[in-house]
Amino acid sequence: MTPEEFRREGHRVVDWIANYMENVERYPVLSQSQPGQIREQLPPSPPARPESFDSILSDVDEILMPGITHWQSPNFFAFFPANHSGPSILGEMMSAGLGVQGMLWMTSPACTELETHVMDWIVEMLDLPDRFLSSGDGGGVIQDTASSSTLCAILAARERVSEYRIREHGVDRTLVVYASGESHSSVEKACAISGIGTGNLRIVNVDDQQRMDPQHLSELIQQDRESGVTPCCVVATVGTTSTGAVDPLEKIGSVCRQEGLWLHVDAAMMGTAAICPEFRFIHQGLESADSYCFNPHKWMFTNFDCDCFFVADRNALIRTLSILPEYLKNQATQSGAVIDYRDWQIPLGRRFRALKLWFVIRSMGVEGIRERVREHVRLGRLFAEWVKQDSRFELIAHAGLNLICFRKRGSDADNRNLLDRLNQSGQVYLTHTQTNGQFVLRMSIGQLGTEEAHVRRAWELITT
Ligand code: PLP
Repeated sequence: MTPEEFRREGHRVVDWIANYMENVERYPVLSQSQPGQIREQLPPSPPARPESFDSILSDVDEILMPGITHWQSPNFFAFFPANHSGPSILGEMMSAGLGVQGMLWMTSPACTELETHVMDWIVEMLDLPDRFLSSGDGGGVIQDTASSSTLCAILAARERVSEYRIREHGVDRTLVVYASGESHSSVEKACAISGIGTGNLRIVNVDDQQRMDPQHLSELIQQDRESGVTPCCVVATVGTTSTGAVDPLEKIGSVCRQEGLWLHVDAAMMGTAAICPEFRFIHQGLESADSYCFNPHKWMFTNFDCDCFFVADRNALIRTLSILPEYLKNQATQSGAVIDYRDWQIPLGRRFRALKLWFVIRSMGVEGIRERVREHVRLGRLFAEWVKQDSRFELIAHAGLNLICFRKRGSDADNRNLLDRLNQSGQVYLTHTQTNGQFVLRMSIGQLGTEEAHVRRAWELITT
């Protein structure tokens, strides 16, 4: 493809995306495709000779589009959002256009320096503790996902407790990680991968609002110390996946400080709320955290993948993950004057993700992002009120922001049928969870284009 052909086809693709944005509401939100239906329309072998862009784009429309679930639909209320915005798509495109691989400062100084700068902006935007700023001992890095951040945090905790011996000698004793049963499955996965073992993940009790019980945490730690194993890390959640519960960070932090444990805080979806001063209560007590992450790819209008991961002591992370083979050595690294983000993550190579986040922050402005977040919270509260006022339904959980868990009074089967009916209608997409042994529907509000009319329509569909 010559640059001239690229320009022509590129314009068509941008038009295609713009049309998609305009028409996204016309598609069934949840793909109605059956297993195997997409593949059976694809040729068994790749084309030997070049094909026209026309035929590629036509296959996108004819073959792939029926198999797309429309995460960007304003009627998408499932899971947590994975939203995008115009500026973020353009930033992503430019990142692909530049094709930079930013493993070292030297491999593109702007890729590293913009990332450091934007991460410091994020500290200011969410009013995170100053210890996460790059100007002190800490700093931020963009990871692909919250799962990777949690793994990096647990690995660093594992090294810190072993005085950085495990990376060389292997796991030589039983280490223990603590999280509530409401924490994300990525915590268990990180225990499996890190050699800690899923059997050494202690499940801390939760209260009636699914928040971690710090007293039980303390008891479990004492029991573990008495039995001769080594407590290592606590993972607390701000906005659990099931119900949006916010663990009490202040009390958990004080247990961690007293016991010398690494505290990682996973605020994957809900962290974005802290851009609004009135919602910063979710981060109360965050000063004690050794690490923290949230996903702009969930609620900050920046398309997947983009997770912001902060550490209070960057040396702990770097000592855990740094490797310097001969072929990566260079003067800038050896001078110690630069950040090499390859040492802050698991893979070596890295995408220029800061670009899309920078595009979003600059294009929307902090106030623009706040406005959307506030509106989503307003809609969440409105929806919760509707549930409360309708005697046929009950509100199961609502942390006061944009996730509402509710159910129809009746059996689990009634609620399952309701969910199936909603999703098969193609007009909305919601998902479910289990709370206190009951099947519960989740209404998660966070798409850029979601307005009151969409939420109202969803409620009408639910109640008729
Ligand atoms: N943590 C929490 C609280 C989540 O809700 C999720 C996903 O919904 C994750 C982690 C995993 O996110 P990611 O896909 O970025 O790994």
